[in-house]
Amino acid sequence: MYYYSTRDKNRDIKLTASQAILKGLAADGGLFVPSQLPTLSKSVSLELDYPTFAYETLKPFFEGDELLDELLDICKGAFNFPVELRELKDTSVLELFHGPTSAFKDFGARFLSFSMEKLLVKKGEKLCILVATSGDTGGAVASAFHKRQNLSVKVLFPKGRVAERQRRQLTCWDDNISSYEVRGSFDDCQRMVKSAFVDPELKNLSSANSINLGRLLPQMVYYVYASMLYQKRCGKKPVIIVPSGNVGNCTGAFWAKAIGAPIERIVLAVNANTTIPEYLSSGVYRPRDSVKTLANAMDVGAPSNMERLFNLFDSYEKMKENVTAYSVSDEEIKKTIKDEYAKEGYVLCPHTACAERVRLDHFNSEPTIIVSTAHPAKFETVVEPLINKTVEMPPALAKLVNMPSTFTEIGTDYKELFK
Ligand SMILES: *Cc1c(COP(=O)(O)O)cnc(C)c1O
Repeated sequence: MYYYSTRDKNRDIKLTASQAILKGLAADGGLFVPSQLPTLSKSVSLELDYPTFAYETLKPFFEGDELLDELLDICKGAFNFPVELRELKDTSVLELFHGPTSAFKDFGARFLSFSMEKLLVKKGEKLCILVATSGDTGGAVASAFHKRQNLSVKVLFPKGRVAERQRRQLTCWDDNISSYEVRGSFDDCQRMVKSAFVDPELKNLSSANSINLGRLLPQMVYYVYASMLYQKRCGKKPVIIVPSGNVGNCTGAFWAKAIGAPIERIVLAVNANTTIPEYLSSGVYRPRDSVKTLANAMDVGAPSNMERLFNLFDSYEKMKENVTAYSVSDEEIKKTIKDEYAKEGYVLCPHTACAERVRLDHFNSEPTIIVSTAHPAKFETVVEPLINKTVEMPPALAKLVNMPSTFTEIGTDYKELFK
C-alpha cells in the first residue's frame, strides 16, 4: 500500500500513509489517495468494539507503515465516544455527533491528532497547526489537539463574525491551544495562515484541513460499520444519504463501498450550492464562489475533495453511474426541520435536514440511512425558532461553552501570531 497524488498520473512519487498524513497536501497541489482499495477482511466484525472495528478496517491502509503497530492505540484514543445508528419510523439515522464538539469532524480531527502525536514523539519533532475558521472546523481541531504532545494549535477567527456559541468553543482552551480574534474577515484569517506558511523564517508549521488523508481514512470506517449493522438488522443494503460540502465525508463513503461495505448507493445532499448536481446533469464541472445558506458548514462552491472523486470515477459516465446529488433550498430546510419534529419528535440540524429532504423527495420507499453530521444544539439560532422549543445541549458541548474564554485580539499581520 502506498499513497500518490491525484495529479501524478504515472504515480512517480509514492508515500507511506504516515508521510502523506504529515505532508497534508502533495507537492504538486494534488490530494493523496490510496494505491488500491483492498477488500474488507473477514476480521471486520460487528462483534468488535468500535475502536477495534476501526483498527481492523484501517489495517490494510497502513500496511508496511511505521504507524501500523500503534494503529489500535490511535483508534482507541481517537474514537472514545459512541457511533449510533438510530431507527426512526421511515429511515435510520447515522448519528455522528456524539464526539466532544458534537459534529462528525471529531472523527477525522481526532484520528489525525493522535496519528501526528505518535509520529512526532517518535521523531522528537514538534509541529504547530494553524487553522483559520469561520466557525465549526476550528472547534473540532482545537478539541482534538488539546494536550497532544509535541503539537500546538493557533486558531484564527474573525472578530464579530462567528456565532456566540461557536466563539466559546474556539476560546475555551488552554495548554497547547491559542485562540486569536482577528480584527478582519475570514478571508483575512485565511490570508494570514497562507502568509505564515510561505515565510521561510517560520518552520514546523502545518495544517489540519479536511483534505488531509488522516481525516479521510477514519471517515470510511463508520460507513462500513453502519451499513453492516443495517444489513444485519434489516437484511438489506441501504442507500446512504450524506449532507455534503467539501465532499470529504462522502468520499469516505465511496471508499467504504469500494472495499466491499454493503451499500446500495451513495447520495449527496447539498444546499443551494449546486456545483455537483449541475455537473452530474450537464457534464460540465464549473466550480464557483459559494452562496450563504442555513446549512452553513456546507457552503462550498468549489468542493476540495472533488479531486478525489474524479480520481475514483475517472470518466463522466462512471461518475454518473456512481454519484447522485440533489440540492435543497433554505425554505425546504426549514420546512423539513419543522415537519420532522412534528411527525417524529426528532430534531434535525440544518445539514441533516438536507439529507432528510432528499430522502423524502427521492427515496421514500427505499431502505435508507440518512447521515446526521451535527447535533441540532450547535445551530440553535436556526432550529429553535422553527420548533418553538429549546434544544438541550449534549453534556460535552455544554461543558465547553460554559468554560471561561481566553483569546488574544490581533490585527491582520500574521507576524503577531508569533510574538
Ligand atoms: C463539514 C460539515 C459538513 C460537510 O462535510 P464535507 O466533508 O465538507 O462534505 C456537513 N455538515 C456539518 C455539520 C459539517 O460540519
